[in-house]
Amino acid sequence: MSVEQAPVQRADFDQVMVPNYAPAAFIPVRGAGSRVWDQSGRELIDFAGGIAVNVLGHAHPALVGALTEQANKLWHVSNVFTNEPALRLAKKLVDATFAERAFFCNSGAEANEAAFKLARRVAHDRFGPEKHEIIATVNSFHGRTLFTVSVGGQPKYSDGFGPKITGISHVPYNDLEALKAQISDKTCAVVIEPIQGESGVVPADLAYLKGARELCDKHNALLIFDEVQTGVGRTGSLFAYQHYGVTPDILSSAKSLGGGFPIGAMLTTEDLAKHLAVGTHGTTYGGNPLACAVASAVLDVVNTPEVLAGVKAKHERFKARLEKIGQQYGLFSQVRGVGLLIGCVLTEAWKGKAKEVFNAAEKEGLMVLQAGPDVVRFAPSLVVEDADIDEGLDRFERAAATLTKA
Ligand SMILES: *Cc1c(COP(=O)(O)O)cnc(C)c1O
Repeated sequence: MSVEQAPVQRADFDQVMVPNYAPAAFIPVRGAGSRVWDQSGRELIDFAGGIAVNVLGHAHPALVGALTEQANKLWHVSNVFTNEPALRLAKKLVDATFAERAFFCNSGAEANEAAFKLARRVAHDRFGPEKHEIIATVNSFHGRTLFTVSVGGQPKYSDGFGPKITGISHVPYNDLEALKAQISDKTCAVVIEPIQGESGVVPADLAYLKGARELCDKHNALLIFDEVQTGVGRTGSLFAYQHYGVTPDILSSAKSLGGGFPIGAMLTTEDLAKHLAVGTHGTTYGGNPLACAVASAVLDVVNTPEVLAGVKAKHERFKARLEKIGQQYGLFSQVRGVGLLIGCVLTEAWKGKAKEVFNAAEKEGLMVLQAGPDVVRFAPSLVVEDADIDEGLDRFERAAATLTKA
């Protein structure tokens, strides 16, 4: 039985919502696979994937099944009790990664918050209060809580909210010498995105990650990989650290982990995890049965040779065509990224105009993303059909033609 709801429109946003977002002019109402329909019934192809979240597209039967089955059983019990979906999910993550322990929360920011608090706690317990410094990278993104914007390397997100969390420094990304110069015995953690997502889809060099691992070991600092955007199959490996073969001490995951249902996870070793003893950290919703049931189903589908190999094949399909379009219309100077996290760097003539590309694509019935003003980002479903890739890129080519002719 469904209750008739009052009609709402995009214009209502400006009347009832805090204006911290500027959503597109249309309102999506339904999705299936890599297609989305808006209020007027217009169909769009989705290469945005809800910002690298809808890892299996929209309304994937395995996820709908897991969610509805759990919805009829048990929604929430709090962490005063544990629950079966949380334990199953933790076992799957432990089996599939370096990790021996999992902490569940509800977003990427919270997963990083837990990671940073754990790193500081470990250093405090083992070495004393002096060892609390966190080294992050310029242009990194780690979420929007006060701690995570302070660690993030983009002052536009952290300025203007009063005193920031101190004991944090930022060094240029992919610059091992800069990290070497900054790290000391006061460093408790170095945090790196294996591919910087929000600031332009910039993959780390293998030598940089290896060097960071060695420097951390030398200075008793923990290496944290923020895999909120790169994790859960996005690179063609379950996690990007496996793609690179460099293992962190702490890993944060979110976005694709829930396939559209909010969940975050911090993964670590038993030896480190024990520093978050009873009462040191927590969240009411973390490890919620609905979220964990969905994330378990996500892992069951994504962590298979077929899907992971498919990501690599689809990368090639996207890249070849995007390079061709980019060249033909003088739009892109480079197409970069790993797996299905792809960034197209705008040429000098189009610099700063990623939003215009976004708008032109939308007019052709295609959802893409920006990654800063200079990069057009693609983060589609990992199981996007080849026919949808081709049709979506046809639409993208029409958008590029219209845009560059104007
Ligand atoms: C999106 C993102 C976050 C923040 O995740 P939220 O769920 O928005 O809190 C953190 N780190 C990286 C690398 C991200 O891409």
